[in-house]
Amino acid sequence: MDKPAPKADVFQANRDRVAPLLKKLRADGIGHMIDGKIVPSISGETFETKSPVDGAVLASVARGNAEDIDAAATAAALAFKSWRDMGPAMRRKLLHRVADAIEDNAEDIAVLECIDTGQAYRFMAKAAIRAAENFRFFADKCAEARDGLNTPSDEHWNISTRVPIGPVGVITPWNTPFMLSTWKIAPALAAGCTVVHKPAEWSPVTAAILARLVKEAGVPDGVLNTVHGFGEEAGKALTEHPAIKAIGFVGESATGSAIMVQGAPTLKRVHFELGGKNPVIVFDDADLDRALDAVVFMIYSLNGERCTSSSRLLIQQNIAEKFVEKLTARVKALKVGHPLDPATEIGPLIHERHLAKVCSYFDVARQDGATIAVGGKAYDGPGGGHYVEPTLVTGAHGRMRVAQEEVFGPFLTVLPFTDEVDAIAIANDIRYGLTGYVWTNNVGRALRVADALEAGMIWLNSENVRHLPTPFGGMKASGIGRDGGDYSFDFYMETKHVSLARGTHRIQKLGI
Ligand code: NAD
Repeated sequence: MDKPAPKADVFQANRDRVAPLLKKLRADGIGHMIDGKIVPSISGETFETKSPVDGAVLASVARGNAEDIDAAATAAALAFKSWRDMGPAMRRKLLHRVADAIEDNAEDIAVLECIDTGQAYRFMAKAAIRAAENFRFFADKCAEARDGLNTPSDEHWNISTRVPIGPVGVITPWNTPFMLSTWKIAPALAAGCTVVHKPAEWSPVTAAILARLVKEAGVPDGVLNTVHGFGEEAGKALTEHPAIKAIGFVGESATGSAIMVQGAPTLKRVHFELGGKNPVIVFDDADLDRALDAVVFMIYSLNGERCTSSSRLLIQQNIAEKFVEKLTARVKALKVGHPLDPATEIGPLIHERHLAKVCSYFDVARQDGATIAVGGKAYDGPGGGHYVEPTLVTGAHGRMRVAQEEVFGPFLTVLPFTDEVDAIAIANDIRYGLTGYVWTNNVGRALRVADALEAGMIWLNSENVRHLPTPFGGMKASGIGRDGGDYSFDFYMETKHVSLARGTHRIQKLGI
C-alpha cells in the first residue's frame, strides 16, 4: 500500500499549487457572473479581498449594488421558464456535470479556500468533494422534486404537485463558503429555480469559481448568477427585488431579522440558517474518551467558525475536574499554524474585525468573573495574520455572556451541572436552538434529553455527521425552515393542489 506523503511535502505541494492560482486571481480580479458573462459592476466600483494569513491583497472584486442585482434578477427571471420546463433527466445530467467539474477542480478550490478564509487544509481538502456530493445528491432528485400526494375523496380525484417558486436569492456567509453555498444552490437548481447568489464579501474567491464551473458544465446562461458585494448594498437589494420570490439565507441571527424586514414589502418567502451556541452534554456514564474527542473536535475544528460548533460544554459535576484536566491538556496541544500546512489544526480567523470580536470575549470572560484556563490572547502565527490561541473558559455559569453569546471562534465555555434536569435547564436557557450533542450510555436518558432539548438537530454519542437526506436547521433564534433531502424542495417549490371531479356530483343550483 502507498504510504501517505510526509506532511512537509504536502505543505510545499499546496504552496506550489496555490502560487500560480493567486497570480492569476490578482491579474484577472473577480467579476460578477450575470447571464453567463463575467462582468464588472455597472458603477465600476470594486473592493479588495485580503488573505487572513498575511493581509496580502488576493483580488480586486466587483462591488455590486442595486443596479447589478437588477441585471442579475432580470437574467434569472428570463431564464426561469426554460429551466423550469427542462425535463428532469436533462437537468440531472447537467447537475452531475457540475459535480464532475467540482471534483476535477477540488484541489485548487481547497487551497484557494484555505488562503481566502484561513481554514486549515486538513478540513478544506474534503470540502469541495462534499460540495460535489451536494450536487450529485440533488441531481438524482430532480425527477422526484415534483412529487406530491394522491388524496382521493368520494367525488374527486385530488392530487398535489410541486412547481418551482421562481427565481430565488441565495445569501451565504464566509465560513466554509464553497461547500455551504452548494448546499443552497444545488437543491434550488434541482427544483427548477434560477438563482442569484450573493456570497460573503470576506470570502468571494471560490464563489466565482463555482459560477464559472456551472457555466462550463453547460447550465444555461442566467440560471446561476453571482453578484459580489456588501450585505447592506447588494445583499439588501437582492432581498428587496420584486422578481426574486424567496431568499435562502445563512448567516447571523441579526441579519436574518433585517432580511425579514427588507423582504416584507415584496412578501419574500424566507429560509434562515442562523447562529448557534450549542451545548454538548457529557454525563458521568458516557464513554468519556470518545466524548473528549468529540468535544475538542466540535469546537476547535474549522477555527470554531462553525454554526454547529459545540461552544458550551455541560459536564456532570462529579466528573468535571478530571474531564477538564484532560481537556485542558488537549487544548494546549492544539496546533495553530499556516492553513496550507496539513499539520495545522487551527488557522487564522477570517478577518481582523472578527479577530477583534473573538478577542473581546477574553475581557468579557474576565469581567464576568470566569477563568481563562487556556489561551486568551492573539497568536503570532506564520504570516502574522489573524491568529488566536484556542481558548478554554472555566468557572462560568449559564447566564454569563460567555455562555450566552455566539463567539464563533475556537472558544469553549465549560458549565458544570448536577443531574439530567439541571443539564436540560442550562442547555435550553438560551436564545439559540441549532444543535445539541449528548453523551451517555443510558439509552432512556439519551432519548429523554434529545426530546427535551430545544434544538433542531441532536446527535447522541456522536459529533456532527451530516447525512444529506436528513433535515438541517434550527429552532428559536437559530433559524426558520429546514434544508436537506425533500425538505429543501418544500422551500424552493410551491405545493399546488389539483382536484378533478370523478363523475357528475351534485352542484348547488343558484339563481334558478
Ligand atoms: P452575516 O449575517 O454577517 O453575513 C452573511 C451574509 O449576509 C453575507 O453574504 C452578507 O453580505 C449578507 N448580509 C449582511 N447584511 C445583509 C442585509 N442587510 N441584507 C442582505 N444580506 C446581508 O454572517 P457572517 O458573519 O458572514 O457568518 C457568520 C454567521 O453565520 C454566524 O452567526 C453563524 O452561526 C452563521 N451560520 C449559520 C449556519 C447555519 O446553518 N445555521 C451555517 C453557517 C453560518
